[in-house]
Amino acid sequence: MTSYAIPLWDMPAVPVTGSDALFPVRHVYCVTRNYDPRAAEPGGISEREVPAIFTKAPGSVLAVGGEVPYPPETERFEPEIELVIAIGEGGSAIAPETAEAHIFGYTLGLDMTRRDLQRAARAEGRPWDIAKWFDAATPLGPIRPVGEIGHPRSGAITLDVNGARIQQGDLNQMIWKPNEVVALLARYETLAPGDIIFTGTPEGETVVEKGDRLEGEIEGIGRLSVTIT
Ligand code: MN
Repeated sequence: MTSYAIPLWDMPAVPVTGSDALFPVRHVYCVTRNYDPRAAEPGGISEREVPAIFTKAPGSVLAVGGEVPYPPETERFEPEIELVIAIGEGGSAIAPETAEAHIFGYTLGLDMTRRDLQRAARAEGRPWDIAKWFDAATPLGPIRPVGEIGHPRSGAITLDVNGARIQQGDLNQMIWKPNEVVALLARYETLAPGDIIFTGTPEGETVVEKGDRLEGEIEGIGRLSVTIT
C-alpha cells in the first residue's frame, strides 16, 4: 500500500442534488467576458473573440457557500456570479455538437476576485493567479445533474449584496454557450471527469467588505449564499 510523507488532504467535493454522492473537483477552469445582450438576439453575435482562459485552485472550492474570509493583501474584493459546468465524461478535441454529452450537471458559483491585484498584474503583464487563488475563493452551490434539469440555456442570473441587486443578466446572453465553452477548452486541454468550468459573469460590479451577505441565484438551478468574514 502506498504511504505518503505528509497526511493526505481532503478531496475538494460538492454535493449533488437528489443523491448522497459528492462530485469530486479535479480542476477549476474559468473563462472571461462571456455576456452580451446582443447574444440573446436571433442570429447572436457573428464576430466572437476567444475569451481568456484561466484556472483557480481546486482547494479554494467552498462547497455550498458559507463564510469567505476577507483575503489578505487586498484593497478591492469583488464577487462574480457565474453558471458553472460540471464535467462527467472527459475528452479532448470535443465538437460543440457533442459537448453536452460530456456535461454531468450545472451549478452556480462565485468567482471571488482580488480585483486590485488582478489589475496590477494585467498592467505589468504578469499572471493574475494570485488574484484568483486564496482560501474560499471559489464558493459553489450544489450540482444539479442534467437528468434533473437538462441543459439550461436561458434564465435569470443575479447577485444581491446586502439585499441590493448588483448583477443581473440572463443565460441567453452568453456569447459562448455552455457546449461551446466545453469545446473551446477541449481544444487546449484534455478534460476529465471532475473538472468544473466557470462560464463568465453578467454585467454589474461592486466591492464587498467584511460582514457583507451575498445571495446568488440562477433561475432553474438554485441559490448560493456567502458571508464575508
Ligand atoms: Mn469570472
